[in-house]
Amino acid sequence: MTTPWGLPDFDEHEDVHFVTNDECGLWAIIAVHSTHLGPAAGGCRFWHYAKDEEALVDALRLSRGMSYKNAMAGLPLGGGKSVILANEERTKTPDMLHAFGKAVDHLGGRYVTAEDVGMSVADMIEISRSTRFVAGLPNSGSDVGGDPGPHTALGIFLGIKAAVRRALGKDRLDGLHIALQGAGSVATGVALHAAAEGAKLSIADIDEARAKKLASASGGTVVSADEILGLDADVVSPSALGAILNENSIAQLKAPIVAGAANNQLATPQDGERLHQRGILYAPDYVINAGGIINVCTEYLADGDASLVRKRIEGIPVRLEQIWDESEHSGRDPAAVADAMAQRLIGRA
Ligand code: NAD
Repeated sequence: MTTPWGLPDFDEHEDVHFVTNDECGLWAIIAVHSTHLGPAAGGCRFWHYAKDEEALVDALRLSRGMSYKNAMAGLPLGGGKSVILANEERTKTPDMLHAFGKAVDHLGGRYVTAEDVGMSVADMIEISRSTRFVAGLPNSGSDVGGDPGPHTALGIFLGIKAAVRRALGKDRLDGLHIALQGAGSVATGVALHAAAEGAKLSIADIDEARAKKLASASGGTVVSADEILGLDADVVSPSALGAILNENSIAQLKAPIVAGAANNQLATPQDGERLHQRGILYAPDYVINAGGIINVCTEYLADGDASLVRKRIEGIPVRLEQIWDESEHSGRDPAAVADAMAQRLIGRA
């Protein structure tokens, strides 16, 4: 099959913007996948890609994921995503963030940015000097806003509990073993919620100091990044980077549940089917990890308070149940079921 622009991940994106600024060294891509349900919202990733083409693939895949995520979370938002290409010559500076903010502003609200990997609340404050189309800013008067990580973590925790109820028939996590890949912002929140309920944690991060810090805060055990996915655990929770579930890694999984925060966990759509064939219950990533965007949306639209954010996040396990029910009914894997539901919602069925 021929694909437009020779890019298999191009999915009728409404527009894709390439932004460069020699003065501050900004190289960025802003991908607007869909504005069918509202402004295309999705974070900005600051990352050093081995090849520049990988940044484009990431922006295309992540922005489509945001369309699906926002639709499935019931938010009046479309899907977009941006990436800023880092390297030794292009370190993050206030000038670079201002230039990026101007590029976002230039789109007149078609795209709304926020934090993603490599970006902080402080970075959003810098960006907000150049555009108002930004969220994930500190609370100002309202109790909604700030780092989306803890909200994402709450949704992951509630999603893990729903998966445990469904696959293992247990209402609580005490005594269960959860393997966390990544010990960053989201994994930290997940670990602390799960530890408070008595879960046993194994934690791996390529940054060992982070893994150790989280293990000591949560009573967990550090394991190597190579081992984590294959542990004999009850739940594997990928909360680092995407495309980690592939033919090889799926064959090594021993846990009956995969439920974590990372975007685009499946390397290919066939990997959703592979998990299903192995009887592993998968929580589609963009459904379970919507807590952060729910908070960002409530902040950006100023349409509710912290209790509404919590109520919306509590909808995540309900949607997962609907997907798993439909999967059981149709025999299709949960990732394919979620994609079909999301495509219907954004008018692309
Ligand atoms: P983060 O940058 O705080 O943490 C990611 C961690 O993963 C880092 O500590 C990094 O060292 C580690 N890591 C990278 N590659 C690894 C590997 N191969 N093995 C083990 N560890 C590895 O990021 P975060 O905000 O916690 O987000 C984690 C994931 O969840 C990302 O994929 C992100 O896109 C996704 N996500 C985050 C949010 C949010 O609100 N922050 C929302 C939705 C989805």
